[in-house]
Amino acid sequence: MDEKILIVGAGPTGLVLALWLTKLGVRVRIIDKDSGPGQTSRAMVVHARTLEFYHQIGIAHELVEKGIKVEDVTIRQQGNIAASVVFGLIGKDSSPFPFILSFPQDDHEKILLEHLHQSGVTVERNTELIEFLEDDHGVSATLKKPDGTEIATTHYLLGCDGARSVVRNQLKLDFPGGTYLQIYFVADVLASGEAIKDNMQLCLGDTDFTLVFPIRRSGSVRLIGIVPKAIEGNKTIEFLDVVPAVIKNTKLSISKLNWFSTYHSHHRVAKHFREGRVFLLGDAGHIHSPVGGQGMNTGIGDAINLAWKIAAVLQKRAAVSILDSFEAERITFAHQLASTTDKVFQAITNEGLLGKFIKKIWFPYVFPFVARFARVKLFVFDTVSQIKIQYRKSPLSKGEAGRVAGGDRLPWVRMGDSDNFKSLEILDWQIHVYGKLQDDFCQSITKLGFVLQVFPWSKEAKKAGLKESAVYFIRPDGYIAYANLNQDNALLEFIAIHQILPRT
Ligand SMILES: Cc1cc2nc3c(=O)[nH]c(=O)nc-3n(C[C@H](O)[C@H](O)[C@H](O)COP(=O)(O)OP(=O)(O)OC[C@H]3O[C@@H](n4cnc5c(N)ncnc54)[C@H](O)[C@@H]3O)c2cc1C
Repeated sequence: MDEKILIVGAGPTGLVLALWLTKLGVRVRIIDKDSGPGQTSRAMVVHARTLEFYHQIGIAHELVEKGIKVEDVTIRQQGNIAASVVFGLIGKDSSPFPFILSFPQDDHEKILLEHLHQSGVTVERNTELIEFLEDDHGVSATLKKPDGTEIATTHYLLGCDGARSVVRNQLKLDFPGGTYLQIYFVADVLASGEAIKDNMQLCLGDTDFTLVFPIRRSGSVRLIGIVPKAIEGNKTIEFLDVVPAVIKNTKLSISKLNWFSTYHSHHRVAKHFREGRVFLLGDAGHIHSPVGGQGMNTGIGDAINLAWKIAAVLQKRAAVSILDSFEAERITFAHQLASTTDKVFQAITNEGLLGKFIKKIWFPYVFPFVARFARVKLFVFDTVSQIKIQYRKSPLSKGEAGRVAGGDRLPWVRMGDSDNFKSLEILDWQIHVYGKLQDDFCQSITKLGFVLQVFPWSKEAKKAGLKESAVYFIRPDGYIAYANLNQDNALLEFIAIHQILPRT
């Protein structure tokens, strides 16, 4: 058997999965049926949780440098400013990345590809998964390549092959949900006008909207919107068809079109994310309305959640059962997301009284009013940024100490010029104690070889919800698996049940 893990699909989900697995010393093979990376871009928004993960593998700064930090949103109606909502750095005590980053998906994928290449992995292009067969020992996959067909064998097949996933179809997994009638468009244009600023502009029409994002690299502007109802039924939709609505919504003057694409949008979640040795991640497992810019960020979250688990199982550093926690943890969030983004999308595009209320009263008047309150702003940031995703019900989560429980993301605690996230760069399990360490606990735990981090107790740690001198056992992806008020042997039991061993 070929030792490598086979990743199908080199979109953002597959690329992050390959990169993280490679960092953990797992040999991967990543294929894509297309001849090159996508030239057009769907996602514009990168959230704080994704940047926190990227910080662990040393690439966050590159995205932040090349993107634009969005700290406020202007709401326009028929092109005129209706309201402006300043979020500023509201999340400055919650995350080292307290903003939304505007950075196009194609540029984002280029960075991932470069890092993957530097790690010695090249995406095998023009290579398509046709079918696969699974037995107790592995999976054999039929790949169509320019020079013929190959049968590849692998321990695990990881389906990151997008919304039309062959992997999902072959597993005969239901993909319940629905398809929106509305069609999204994305255009990259050169334009001038008041709606071009270093922020996000939500330009509302009567039944449609256009979002305007600046792009640092090219000086161009990215427009995302929905195609006006009157032309939805056209056989083909060209940029010229949407220009009148774009101009009406934004009052921009457009001088050049670089590219234009349209997308059908859906809200669907696969029945399962795993069958034996085959997994579904990213759009292959869940798709939602682009409202809130969550899809790509969620696929990246799936990739990181699974990468360290697969690495641990292959390297015999954890029980095979930890793989069960992947679906348990990720499918719950996927369902929540599909439902929330569906409700928001339905409300925005509603043509009745509700739609009128939302566009003419809620967005211009109510939202800016409630968003003046710091608590509301923080709630919006915590939710949208994905830092509040938690796995408390996971089979891999246990205990509680302070306001923090097993399954929560490790809260970020600033410590002078440094912080407690610095320690997450080791990509391994570790124990955190904020306060005093007891000698006998220290001896029993260090014998096992886990990294033990003892931080001074501080008002910042208290504010973050941690408890003085409690024990927090942190997973390689920065989530707390186990929390205990006492420094006792219960942690050893938890470690033994899941057969967890450190990497080094
Ligand atoms: C208009 C719009 C705006 C959006 N904005 C945002 C946003 O701001 N933020 C956000 O987080 N998300 C956003 N999204 C969603 C985001 O673009 C997707 O969630 C993301 O691209 C999913 O990544 P993926 O890697 O899972 O799948 P994909 O990007 O679809 O990649 C799948 C890859 O698999 C390959 N493939 C498919 N079948 C096979 C096969 N049989 N063999 C080999 N290769 C195969 C494909 O060629 C492709 O390269 C937006 C989406 C739309 C439509």
